[in-house]
Amino acid sequence: MKIGIDVGGTKCLGVALDENGKVVQQVRLPTPHAKELGDTLVEIVAQLGEFSSLGIGVPGLISPEGVIRASPNLVGAYELPLRALMEERLSREVMIENDATCAALAEWQLGAAKGATDAWVITLGTGIGGGFISGSVLQRGAHGFAGEVGHMVVDPDGPVCPCGRRGCWERFASGNGLSFLANGEKGEDVLSRAHAGEADAMSVVDTFAQWVALGLVNLTNMTDPEVIVIGGGVIVSADVVMPRVQHWFEQLLYSPQHRAHPRLAAAQLGEHAGAIGAAMLCTTV
Ligand SMILES: [Zn+2]
Repeated sequence: MKIGIDVGGTKCLGVALDENGKVVQQVRLPTPHAKELGDTLVEIVAQLGEFSSLGIGVPGLISPEGVIRASPNLVGAYELPLRALMEERLSREVMIENDATCAALAEWQLGAAKGATDAWVITLGTGIGGGFISGSVLQRGAHGFAGEVGHMVVDPDGPVCPCGRRGCWERFASGNGLSFLANGEKGEDVLSRAHAGEADAMSVVDTFAQWVALGLVNLTNMTDPEVIVIGGGVIVSADVVMPRVQHWFEQLLYSPQHRAHPRLAAAQLGEHAGAIGAAMLCTTV
């Protein structure tokens, strides 16, 4: 079986896949301080049992050598050589990749972007994760850091971001961004009020959708995808958010009448996408 582990800010999710990519087993453990991350990952692998390959998805800047260069949401995870550490512990080859790149791989191979030659997979969570496929190749960039779309600046005078700059896209268009636009109200509360038809909440959702669409339009200008897959907790309420994103996307697109419009699709693999993609790393080129 192929094993994949998605290291999140609060939990690590491990899955075992059968030969069709179906999740047949899963294990969840809290994410520890980076110093104990190796112990937690070894424990997950032990609980999942025998495996043919192991991949791990981690948020942040992950080098091609499997070093976590910087990962602001993992406490203490700077310049951590995770691949070397895990290979020493397990005496096996281990693949390490950015978590959003893993999610993109999974949605491309098995989910909402299946069959596409050019696609983006965007996850609106605490921040915004992005991964993309261009010409049927999963893109990593020259140093492994491609697709860090959450820190694309959309307002130089905007709110300060934990990355140290101002007005990054994820300040407006992530789950946290929705809360920011609602003056601190929890995103899920805004969504349920919008779902119930409350005008002020619907207005916040509309503004949020406009920010989401603005980023998607920028990505479209850069890479001309055929499909953009959008996932994350905010999109679970797809009945109120996605139609407004679609509306604004069409409004903001450059020369909309002279081009094919990328399809906007909700992610299909849910919270498993990152772990499934990590398990599939062994099959990618
Ligand atoms: Zn930022």
